[in-house]
Amino acid sequence: MLDKTKFSIHCLIGTYAHIGSTMYKNELPEPCNCLNCGTAVYGRPDKKFCSDKCRHDYHNLSANAIRSVRRAALRSLDSNYRILDQFVRMGMASVSLESALALGFDPAAHSRSQKGERGHTLYRCYDIEYVMTTSRLLKIKRVNP
Ligand SMILES: [Zn+2]
Repeated sequence: MLDKTKFSIHCLIGTYAHIGSTMYKNELPEPCNCLNCGTAVYGRPDKKFCSDKCRHDYHNLSANAIRSVRRAALRSLDSNYRILDQFVRMGMASVSLESALALGFDPAAHSRSQKGERGHTLYRCYDIEYVMTTSRLLKIKRVNP
């Protein structure tokens, strides 16, 4: 017989559940798995973690992963900005994409993009605007942010 002082209605998963004086069979939801360690979680239906430690670890890991992705994106943007800023300072409005890539330019990193009047895409890296084709960076110029 199950000790009902140790189990709530939701933790009685399996073939039988003893609630009060009534025995129920297969009428309770399946347990979910701890989002952190994957072990079966018993308790409230909305319970997601097997322990406070798992809840803390999961949220810390999620926050760290988000911070890591954000830092990497900002590093790419800053690197692109330094490269584009050099081009602007040197009066180079057009450079080969190959040259930019050799300097570490990341074509995927930009702070904004929008369609231009002639269908091309205008990219922004903070206050520097440019058009990127498959072979060149064109119309590189500083604009009002
Ligand atoms: Zn866990």
